[in-house]
Amino acid sequence: MRAVTFQAPGEVRIEHKPEPELVAPDDAIVAVEATGICGSDLHIFHGRVPIEPGFTIGHEYVGTVLAAGDQVTRVREGDRVLGCFLTACGTCFFCLRGAYHKCDFSRVFGHGSGLGSLEGAQAERLLVPRANLTLRPVPEGMGAETALFAGDVAGTAYHAVTSTRLAPGELAGVLGLGPVGLMAVQVAKASGAAAVYAVDSVRERLAVAESFGATAIHLTEQDVREEIKRATGGRGLDVVIDAVGHPSALDTAIRLARKAGRVSATGVYAERCEVHMGLVWIKSLTIESGQANVIAHVDPVLELLGAGVLDPSPLVTHHMPLDEAAEGYAIYDRREALKIVLTP
Ligand SMILES: [Zn+2]
Ligand SMILES: [Zn+2]
Repeated sequence: MRAVTFQAPGEVRIEHKPEPELVAPDDAIVAVEATGICGSDLHIFHGRVPIEPGFTIGHEYVGTVLAAGDQVTRVREGDRVLGCFLTACGTCFFCLRGAYHKCDFSRVFGHGSGLGSLEGAQAERLLVPRANLTLRPVPEGMGAETALFAGDVAGTAYHAVTSTRLAPGELAGVLGLGPVGLMAVQVAKASGAAAVYAVDSVRERLAVAESFGATAIHLTEQDVREEIKRATGGRGLDVVIDAVGHPSALDTAIRLARKAGRVSATGVYAERCEVHMGLVWIKSLTIESGQANVIAHVDPVLELLGAGVLDPSPLVTHHMPLDEAAEGYAIYDRREALKIVLTP
């Protein structure tokens, strides 16, 4: 079967890979109908997240169950399904406490041997371990390009907002308007935020945030701190979501948050990063961080997508055949796309 593989920094290629086979009794094989290119795939593409050359990448997928082991009870052969970007065992210390994202035996699709040696979803077919936890049936009438968001982007945005306990009537800020940031704007609005201030330097992304009901602030053409000061009478925002994953974004988030406010560091931080801890302490800020617990969130996220409360369709800017993945990565790398959906 055909699969998109990492070769070297800046190079992905379509290769022929062996067909996946059931290994454990709770495995399933999924024929992929649609698969996304994600910001974290770009970390691999650039070599910042090292994986073995020839490994299949990708972790966002919708498809049909081709085969399922004896212990798979929640989906069946022939079901149209979507999947989470990672798997969890369901029985370790962390899973029993609902922290599936911190499972001791968690494996992430398409991230090489460092994260569980699980071949990726940018392929014709995919082995899905722990299918009872990892997969969900696609709700009746939901398109692949909507369902695709449930197991990663929308789940991550949901995690970013709910981890801050945003209450109706509060003021939220979202820094970085990639797909996760833009979905976080929608989740914050749906959670009752009185206003959402959306910050980025790409005009098209600011326009999408505005269409979702946010107030757009241009990162370099406007003074973000002054704009927030003016909008809040100098108080600052109740909640700020850093959907960038860069020290300067985290620093801005800490400065925009009001005293006793909450900050969610949702962007990926893999390295040491200095923050002004004195400011965090003096302001009594709460900082939430880490990868999203998408397995815990996938059901409510599907309800919100199904009800149209969350609508990711404006984020899908490119549809391409799987065979054109290399071109897709190049486009994504140039920040010309929000979400590229590949179809095998
Ligand atoms: Zn992703
Ligand atoms: Zn576990």
